[in-house]
Amino acid sequence: MNRNYRIRLIVLCFLLEFHLTALRSQSKLNIVDKTVSFGMRQTFNRNICAIIVHSTYNNSGGEKYDIDLIIKQFSHYHVSSHYVIGREGTIYQLVKEKNVSFQAGKSSLPDGRKGVNSCSIGIELVNANDDSPTEAQIRSLTILIKNIQSRYNIKYILRHSDIAPDRKTDPWNMNWEDFMQRLKN
Ligand SMILES: [Zn+2]
Repeated sequence: MNRNYRIRLIVLCFLLEFHLTALRSQSKLNIVDKTVSFGMRQTFNRNICAIIVHSTYNNSGGEKYDIDLIIKQFSHYHVSSHYVIGREGTIYQLVKEKNVSFQAGKSSLPDGRKGVNSCSIGIELVNANDDSPTEAQIRSLTILIKNIQSRYNIKYILRHSDIAPDRKTDPWNMNWEDFMQRLKN
């Protein structure tokens, strides 16, 4: 192979990789706005250090995985979450990251800090307790968390059950160790 040809090939590979990376970051973080005004508190300059992963579904009648029924149920209980990830992997945003969402409840971080809501971002996977998250959900969750990690100094990525072990068991039927491994890749 002559030298010019080899250089051209290297440049081509580089450009291809560059385009693929740009394409990946654009297409994968597709967020649908579902902003709510309940179950949240507006704040300015809060310090975000944790991401809390949950499961949720509608158990108030009707389709259990319907996003609007889930949001309606949140409104009934005056709770919310920053993000909810649907079964097909769609990411819905309910609360802006700069604001507090009421998702953690009475809980504490491994370093003993209480008031987890004020320093965390909550992400709900649409998933009933007798079901598992879908591959599409796990993929979206991975992308979303990596994106959040790139913007804040995140100390903890935890399950709701990690911060409130006596009250909470979610996220349900999720292979957490496998997920933690994916985040590192
Ligand atoms: Zn939860």
